[in-house]
Amino acid sequence: MYCEKCKHVFEGERCPNCRKGRVRQVTPDDPCFLTEKGSPWDGMLEDVLRQNGIPFLTGGRLGAGLSTYVGPILEVTRFYVRWSDLERARGIVEELFGADSGDEA
Ligand SMILES: [Zn+2]
Repeated sequence: MYCEKCKHVFEGERCPNCRKGRVRQVTPDDPCFLTEKGSPWDGMLEDVLRQNGIPFLTGGRLGAGLSTYVGPILEVTRFYVRWSDLERARGIVEELFGADSGDEA
């Protein structure tokens, strides 16, 4: 199932992230939450995804304006990939960062 709010893919009737029941079946082109990384790991992951030909979206947790106030060190980049690429992308993340890092908050 797929949560449109958090872009999480999971099994079951409720999103484990936001606990909302507003979920639907995932389709291959849905952007799915992959992981979130701060600098410098985000740049590294971007490079590797590009090398593997996996299209991705990124979203910073902080707005560009805000991050100039609190400093770039707190900025975290969220990565989303298409459902059809998610498994492959997860494998890449595990290779780069280890098996436990996929869901770190
Ligand atoms: Zn959710």
